[in-house]
Amino acid sequence: MSKIHNFSAGPSILPKHVFQEASQAIVDYNGTGLSLLEMSHRSKEFVAVMDEARSLVKEIFNLGDDYEVLFLQGGASLGFLISAYNMLRENKQGAYVNTGSWANKALKEGKWLGSAIEVASSKDANYNSIPKDFVVPDNCDYLHYTSNNTIFGTEFHTIPQTDKPLVCDMSSDIFSRPVDASKFDLIYAGAQKNMGPAGTTLYIVKKDVLGKSSVDIPTMLDLSTHASKDSMFNTPPVFAVYCSMLVLRWIKELGLESIGKTNQGKATALYNEVDRNSMFKGTAQAEDRSLMNACFVLNDGIDEALNSEFLNMCNDAGISGVKGHRSVGGFRASMYNALPLESVEALVDVMKAFETKFA
Ligand SMILES: *Cc1c(COP(=O)(O)O)cnc(C)c1O
Repeated sequence: MSKIHNFSAGPSILPKHVFQEASQAIVDYNGTGLSLLEMSHRSKEFVAVMDEARSLVKEIFNLGDDYEVLFLQGGASLGFLISAYNMLRENKQGAYVNTGSWANKALKEGKWLGSAIEVASSKDANYNSIPKDFVVPDNCDYLHYTSNNTIFGTEFHTIPQTDKPLVCDMSSDIFSRPVDASKFDLIYAGAQKNMGPAGTTLYIVKKDVLGKSSVDIPTMLDLSTHASKDSMFNTPPVFAVYCSMLVLRWIKELGLESIGKTNQGKATALYNEVDRNSMFKGTAQAEDRSLMNACFVLNDGIDEALNSEFLNMCNDAGISGVKGHRSVGGFRASMYNALPLESVEALVDVMKAFETKFA
């Protein structure tokens, strides 16, 4: 099989060795004679997997025993609701920064439950930037933001300043760079962008937060339900948690410092070419560009018919997943942790060849 350069936005590229190890676990888990898929989630084998996955998250983020780590289901999309339920206090409203489709959906769930306030938005400019100097009103219980906007290719490069509890949807840039996780009361992230396969959602929650909501929470949406049962209140998505654990081992071994440098190098290589190449322009404001998802379109005045020409050339070079999201158009190159620099170089080569052929 020839090598595919996988720029998919999610589910997305994972380290090759994880696929090999995970496929072995399906056939025979650690010489038990059982597949991981047919053993009890209460078996000592799987309990060890869950425990290791949870403690790896704490080790990678340098978090102490004042935090709980949970692997739940429902995707980050359920996280929008779960975060609101668990963070509401006497004011019964959260503050939201609206920086893209996912952020907007989080706001919508916040409004469903209370009276969420949009404190800043870049919607009018098709989400091409990150709002900076916004104020969080005193009568809000928490500030929610989306650290990386997967669809529009923008990213918070610093943590917003606020004295309110901080909640973050980190689905598409978790573990992509060093971050002071102790600044957050609640972090959640769907696994399938940068941590594992689809099927589980990571929650990192300060223990202080649990059981303090001002609203009644349905059992399954209450994080204290899951925390009190070590993330095993009900049957967890065993395979997704196992694969995530394998990826987390790899992340821990590399360290976030080193991963962050590599990701910076990949993004710089790609954005340099977007800026240099006469056929393309970036869609996000330069200072807010995402290191994970680079969005670019054909330059002004270039024949739109060349969109499909470029995708064909990518396809011929074994490059997959660069068609842009329909709300931005053009192209999106997702450069998650497991994507090697050589894949970015392959894409840059095609961009150059495209310019040579059509400019
Ligand atoms: C993909 C994504 C989501 C939605 O995740 P699901 O697991 O499909 O619910 C939410 N937020 C961000 C930032 C994402 O990238």
